[in-house]
Amino acid sequence: MEQVRVRFAPSPTGPLHIGGVRTALYNYLFAKKNGGTFILRIEDTDQVRFVEGAEEYIMESLEWCGIVVDEGIREGGNYGPYRQSDRKAIYKQYADILINKGDAYYAFDTPEKLESLRGESEKAGKTFVYNAEVREKLINSVSLKETEWREKLDKGEPYVIRYKMPFNEDIHFDDIIRGHIVVNTGTLDDKVLIKSDGMPTYHLAFIVDDHLMEISHVIRGEEWLPSLPLHIILYRSFGWDPPHFAHLPLLLKPDGKGKLSKRDGDKMGFPVFPLFWPYGETAKGYREDGYYPEAFINMLALLGWNPGTEHEIFSMDELISTFSIDRVGKSGSRFDPEKAKWFNHQYLQKKTNNQLALEFREFLRAHGYQDDIVKLEALVGLVKERVSFVKDIWEQTDFFFKTPESYDQEVVKKHWKEDSAVILTELRSLLENMVDFSAADTESVIKAWIEKNSYNTGAIMNAFRLVIVGALRGPHIFDIISWIGKDETLKRIDKGVSLLSK
Ligand code: GLU
Repeated sequence: MEQVRVRFAPSPTGPLHIGGVRTALYNYLFAKKNGGTFILRIEDTDQVRFVEGAEEYIMESLEWCGIVVDEGIREGGNYGPYRQSDRKAIYKQYADILINKGDAYYAFDTPEKLESLRGESEKAGKTFVYNAEVREKLINSVSLKETEWREKLDKGEPYVIRYKMPFNEDIHFDDIIRGHIVVNTGTLDDKVLIKSDGMPTYHLAFIVDDHLMEISHVIRGEEWLPSLPLHIILYRSFGWDPPHFAHLPLLLKPDGKGKLSKRDGDKMGFPVFPLFWPYGETAKGYREDGYYPEAFINMLALLGWNPGTEHEIFSMDELISTFSIDRVGKSGSRFDPEKAKWFNHQYLQKKTNNQLALEFREFLRAHGYQDDIVKLEALVGLVKERVSFVKDIWEQTDFFFKTPESYDQEVVKKHWKEDSAVILTELRSLLENMVDFSAADTESVIKAWIEKNSYNTGAIMNAFRLVIVGALRGPHIFDIISWIGKDETLKRIDKGVSLLSK
């Protein structure tokens, strides 16, 4: 097989959508699977849509995901520069090649003139298309005499360079995911290649770059499929072999109706960006929401690609060895926020108690709590199976760190009986006399006492949990008291008995 070189070519117009991260991931997996090179090229030729901070955001996102760039702005490489605005002079040279061949031309029509032509067409119920049918009637180097258009150029009149789209010709091409496609050029317009500010449009810039950077496969979003006939014909004009193309299906909203957008995330409370976006209108990120990058990547990989088995958990290395572009589907993949959480849950279960305790300790410190790592290991072990995120551990265990301030009134009404205070005071003295305060020991002493007195286990345990936790939740009660220790247990019983007996 030829040397595989692929690129991820985002435009720095804001935070990188997770659909873009998936495009980067598929490019990366394909490159690594085939011993190839993964290139990051920043496509910033649209000065109007450029957003400060977006380029750094893109790089940081890839880094967080574990997608390693082989060639790029930071990494360097033999095919740079890797930012299109730094390549401006290159594009003009290539546009000139097409002009000299007669495949492109200068067009001097003002934006106002084009606007009014569009308006007129609209009134007549048609769409204005700048193509072979109207080209001769407009102001350009096809319709004007050479002396006339040269004079305009010399005078410095603003112009764009347009591609001279052949009329009524069938263009044939193949897409790895979509198969063979035929499009008639009659539907295409004379696309602008160089804008009046001297910058290339996307179409010219990417073709020149992909050629010069020796890109073997272009794997990108399906929104570029309609432009592919233009791209194929541009390659032909230059006399270059086109790369292989693969157009990835869309990421769809959870209900499957349309493209996944930031608004869907805002409405349903999930992020559609890898990292928090701090500029202007801020946006949530997977990283800050507590996702592990491995879980995030695993989830994204399966949105569009399937391994052909039921297997769902893949590390990056496993993805690299299993990935195949032939197994990427044609139809859009529905994003499922619950499934995203499920992936994180799976990855969290794989962590050792020690790893989780270290992560949870960071969280605790940020919230002003402290505890030794051995105790935290025991604690995370008690609740691990119930949580999907480290921050959930806190929701499950806050009462380990804080004496209840109040008591769940529903529970009080139902489970705090006339005799609860007397019985808990009896239970307190049993515990007070114990030396070993392990869960097993306290449990056996208390169970024996209940049995001996023929007490109602349920009633006692509910009242006991109420004073210790403040509500009827949490793991095994004897695990809780063993963890908080004898002093704290007795203190909580005293507080509960005095407050609830009033
Ligand atoms: N700059 C384009 C985008 O952000 C790249 C498309 C491509 O990969 O060719 O969508």
